[in-house]
Amino acid sequence: MIKKIDHIGVAVKDLDKAIEIYNNVFGFELLEIEEVPSQKVKVAKFNVGGVHIEFLQPLAEDSPISRFLENKGEGIHHIAYYTDDIKGLLDDIRGKGVKMINEEPIKGSSGTIIAFVHPKSSIILTELVSKGE
Ligand code: ZN
Repeated sequence: MIKKIDHIGVAVKDLDKAIEIYNNVFGFELLEIEEVPSQKVKVAKFNVGGVHIEFLQPLAEDSPISRFLENKGEGIHHIAYYTDDIKGLLDDIRGKGVKMINEEPIKGSSGTIIAFVHPKSSIILTELVSKGE
């Protein structure tokens, strides 16, 4: 039910610095800059051959990205996979004992719905993404 890598999320302290590097130095196409209230982050999205790289800067002390930066520093935070049927996928993997951070899908960026798999069940933090209804 997983179709492709949707994006890779990278935690950063300074979004402007990430934009400077990946837009101006590497020449990646900057798709948009957006705030995602559910995750308390500001996101800069780049397109690289159909896969998006998303740089995430926390907007609050209690953002999940703030905690990640404190514990691990800047770097890859999560990998996101696209599915057409997030609810069916959640039912399927929960039935296999997968531990979720979000038991039900929540609002992601750009009108998507998302759910995070607990890293205990996925080694690296994993996000499942579907188009919103
Ligand atoms: Zn993500």
